[in-house]
Amino acid sequence: CGRRLNSTFRASEIVIDHTNNPKTMPVLDETLIFGKKTTDHLFWVDWDAKKGWHTPQIAPYQPLVLDPTSSCFHYGTECFEGMKAYKTAHDKVLLFRPEMNVRRLKKSAAALALPDFDGEEFLQCLRKFVDIERKWVPNKKGYSMYIRPTMIGTHQQLGVTKPAKAKLFIVNALVGPYFPTGFKPVALYCDEARVRAWPGGVGDKKVGGNYGPGIAYTDEITKLGYQQLLWLVNGNVTEVGTMNFFVLWKTKEGETELITAPLDSTILEGVTRDSILTLTKEWGEFKVSERTFSIHELVEAVDQGRVIEAFGAGTACIVCPVKKIHFKGKDYDIPMKLGNSGLLTKRLLDHILSIQYGEIHHPWSYQV
Ligand code: PMP
Repeated sequence: CGRRLNSTFRASEIVIDHTNNPKTMPVLDETLIFGKKTTDHLFWVDWDAKKGWHTPQIAPYQPLVLDPTSSCFHYGTECFEGMKAYKTAHDKVLLFRPEMNVRRLKKSAAALALPDFDGEEFLQCLRKFVDIERKWVPNKKGYSMYIRPTMIGTHQQLGVTKPAKAKLFIVNALVGPYFPTGFKPVALYCDEARVRAWPGGVGDKKVGGNYGPGIAYTDEITKLGYQQLLWLVNGNVTEVGTMNFFVLWKTKEGETELITAPLDSTILEGVTRDSILTLTKEWGEFKVSERTFSIHELVEAVDQGRVIEAFGAGTACIVCPVKKIHFKGKDYDIPMKLGNSGLLTKRLLDHILSIQYGEIHHPWSYQV
């Protein structure tokens, strides 16, 4: 007795070892590959069942040394987050609604029996880490520093048990605009036989195991000339690739409605999804609905000329216009008023970008 389990790590205790060997900043143009150029430092904090959380560290970027029996290599005890740091015209560094990512990370970790921690302490660690990496946040609109918090089970034992050791780490990498030369609308392939998530599963958690199989499926449909999968659950439209999915259409009653699938165990609670729902509800120009809709309703609406536009939504692209949906041997063309996107898609991109880059002051901005 006597020693207490540390139920959280603390930002005030971070041990910092600055690099003596800074990397060079790449040229910021369309040759920058998404998430390939990592920055100077790595954040990590270890956990074990006896002691709880250890002291957080920030040190020069380096490989991780893990025992080959670590549970993350065998049983998918891995979850992650994706967020970005943006530089404003006045050299401030902003995060976009980071508390939502922290909440989601805690939820994903719980689903894998990985340890919990204090969300506010994590946010303060993140803030300190991003501050140290400040020079890596590009001062060019559209470019940003992508932040990848990750948690893994490092338990050394080939038994399928609750991880008795874990590591939480954060890596940063440079990213450019998803569409450097303007929107590139995507063609979707919808196949009822391909399933990403199912009721009662972990589709609503950001666990690595949700993504590997999707890579192989996407590779197959790319060869057929499509870019992303439109995922169904029991015939209902859920997500597209690794994005939430929105359709702006006229209902059979003639009402204009922006629709996206409701949050259940099959859909990731996207930060961008929530932002789009909140903004469009504030605008109050059309009905905004989170409700179940089927692929049959969608293709029928395309056939009847009721679909106005459709897009995916996620941190990487913000919004991604959809030009076509393949279902049961037929291609359904989605209108794009502006040639390469719909009007709402473009308006949402511009509006969210201007919040993220601090051109509009907004409570969603979190200053580092
Ligand atoms: N769905 C899935 C499956 C995703 O991986 C992502 C990307 N994190 C999203 C939706 C969009 O979420 P966010 O807006 O938080 O990036």
